[in-house]
Amino acid sequence: MLAFLKNILNIILPPRCLLCGKILSGENGLCEDCFSKIKFISKPYCQSCGCPLSCGTKAKTCATCVSDNKNPFRMQRAKVYYDENSKPLLINFKFLDRTENAPFLARWLLAAGHDIWEQGVDILIPVPLHKTRLRHRKYNQAALLCKELSKLTGVPVDYTSLKRHKNTKPQVECSGSRRRNNVKNAFTVVSADKIKDKRVVIIDDIYTTGATLKECGLVLKTAGAKSVDALTVARVLKE
Ligand SMILES: [Zn+2]
Ligand SMILES: [Zn+2]
Repeated sequence: MLAFLKNILNIILPPRCLLCGKILSGENGLCEDCFSKIKFISKPYCQSCGCPLSCGTKAKTCATCVSDNKNPFRMQRAKVYYDENSKPLLINFKFLDRTENAPFLARWLLAAGHDIWEQGVDILIPVPLHKTRLRHRKYNQAALLCKELSKLTGVPVDYTSLKRHKNTKPQVECSGSRRRNNVKNAFTVVSADKIKDKRVVIIDDIYTTGATLKECGLVLKTAGAKSVDALTVARVLKE
């Protein structure tokens, strides 16, 4: 019966490419053309931060991770390069109410998180929005991603333990060290008992400089998390 209804629905409202709107025959999310333009992050990448390493290298971690002793993360992973081709998919989802992109993007998170799932995970936590921003934007894109990812992994979501108590400027308006200062002390863990000894994955849509994720990671570690991983759909990387 469900399959029958689904067939009818597919005739009335056929699935369309999330980028160009072309009618699709399957439920792949993107048409072949749009899919072929997406640049995926593939091996070899740094086992710690997930950034691509040059081909043929024997190193397992990048130079930045070797020298960074304040890294709160067990692992960081992202699925695609944030570039002109992937950008509309994420911007429409984040700002233009295209919440129907969430299940598709969650499938990318599931794939990008392969190493993380293998190591074991207890809870997913979305990067929180400040309540003022949430009221203005109506939904938190990271929370929607968590909800869909939870359906795929069976890992529960904790929406409430991590709070953003400082209404920071949008990170796009800051650069470099100003981004770090902008989010410094912006987050708190309100129920440390729910975080203590847990293996946490913090979820967001885009990794730009990593300042926001890092700040969340530090706060969660301080609250007693056993490990923290960061998983995002896209990441800003130099070509
Ligand atoms: Zn397309
Ligand atoms: Zn690295």
